[in-house]
Amino acid sequence: MFDPSRNIQDFLVFGEFGDVNPSITDSSTYTFLSPAQMEEAFEHEIEGCFLYSRHWNPTNKYLARALAAMEDTEAAQVTASGMAAISSAILQLCQTGDEIISERTIYGGSYAFLKNFLPRLGIKVHFVDIRDLDKIKAAINERTRVIYTESLSNPLLDIADLPKISEIARAHDIKLIVDNTFTPLIISPKRLGADIVVHSMTKFINGTSDCVAGCICASADFVNQLVDVNSGATMLLGPVLDSTRAASILKNIHSLHIRMMQHSKNALFIAENLQKLGVRVYYPGLPDNPSHGLMRKLMNPQFGFGGMLAIDAKTSEQANRLMAAMQEAKVGYLAVSLGYFKTLFSAPGHSTSSEIPHEERDAMGLGDGLVRMSVGLDNDIELSFSRIKECLEKAGLC
Ligand SMILES: *Cc1c(COP(=O)(O)O)cnc(C)c1O
Repeated sequence: MFDPSRNIQDFLVFGEFGDVNPSITDSSTYTFLSPAQMEEAFEHEIEGCFLYSRHWNPTNKYLARALAAMEDTEAAQVTASGMAAISSAILQLCQTGDEIISERTIYGGSYAFLKNFLPRLGIKVHFVDIRDLDKIKAAINERTRVIYTESLSNPLLDIADLPKISEIARAHDIKLIVDNTFTPLIISPKRLGADIVVHSMTKFINGTSDCVAGCICASADFVNQLVDVNSGATMLLGPVLDSTRAASILKNIHSLHIRMMQHSKNALFIAENLQKLGVRVYYPGLPDNPSHGLMRKLMNPQFGFGGMLAIDAKTSEQANRLMAAMQEAKVGYLAVSLGYFKTLFSAPGHSTSSEIPHEERDAMGLGDGLVRMSVGLDNDIELSFSRIKECLEKAGLC
C-alpha cells in the first residue's frame, strides 16, 4: 500500500550546521566564486548553487523537495499562493488559440481565472461535468492542451475518476492538472495518472491559516520549464514564496498525516450523526454517498475521507441562522478557507456554479442553503456535535 506520509518521514534535512530545521535563507542574491561559474548558472542549474531567490532559494527548495516526495513526483515548485500555482501551471502549457477542458464545479478563484481571464489571452475553456467521461471526450479537439479538475469537487465533494480521465488525456496527448487541495495524502493524483498536481498550501498542508502559499508538483522537466530564465511562468510572473514562510510550512508538513486523520475522523463523526438526525449531508465517507465507492478505490485509506463536508440547510435564511448560531456556540468560525485546526464554515452560494442550469443545480443540491464545513481537530468531537445539534434546532433544521 502506498503511503505518502512515509516519504515525508524519510525526508531528513541536515542544515548548514547540522540543524534539524535548516537555516532560513535571508538573501535575495548569492555570490559566485568566479564570473565563469555565474555564466554557467544562467545556462543550467548547478547542484548546490543559487543565482537569485526568484529563481530558487535553498529554503524553498527544501520545501519543494518534501512536496515532491509527498506527491511522488520527480520535482516541485513552491509559489506565493494556490492561485499562483494554478495560473502558472496553466500559462506554462497554454498559449493563444489553445483550449482547456475544466470541471465545472471548482474553486471560485480558479473558475474566475478560467472563465474570465484566460479568454482575454485567446484561450478557450469548456466547462463540463467531469464525472461524464463522454462529455470530456466530446469536448476534445486538436487545440485541447489541458484537462483541469479538482480531486474532490466543490462544494458537493464528488470525486473525479482520475485513472479514467488520465487515460483519455494520454490518448490525446493532453496534460491532466489536478488540484489536490482538499485531499493531501488521501489522494495521490500523480499515481492515479495526473501529469501535474497543484495545491493551495494555505489550507490543509500548512494547517494554521497564517499564510497564503501554493505548489506545483510535476516532472523535473516541467519544473525546469517553470523556472527557465527565458520562458518560465514562475520565474517571469514572479510569485515567489517568502523563505520564512517556506520554512514554517516545511515544519507543519511533518504533522500533516496526524492532522488529516483527525480531520477525517471528526468529519465522519459529524456526518454520520447529522445523517441520523435526518439532515441532508454531503460527505464521501458516508456509504450512501454517490462518490463513496470510487473514493474507496482511489484513496490511500489510512487517512480517511477528509475534513470537508456540506450541510443542506435548505434556504439561505436557515443557512445564515445556522452559521451565526454555530459561531455563537463556539463550534468554530464563520470564515472562508479550510484546513485550519478549528472548524470553519461558510455558504458557498452559487458563485462557482453558474455554468450549471438552475434546475440541475437544485436537483444536485447546489442550493442557496448549502453550508460548507471544514471540520477542525477538536479532541472532544461529541461536545462539538452536541453544540451543532442545538444550532440546527435553533435554525429549525431538526
Ligand atoms: C483556496 C483554494 C485555491 C486558491 O488558493 P490560494 O492559496 O487562496 O491562492 C485553489 N483551489 C482550491 C481547491 C482552494 O480551496
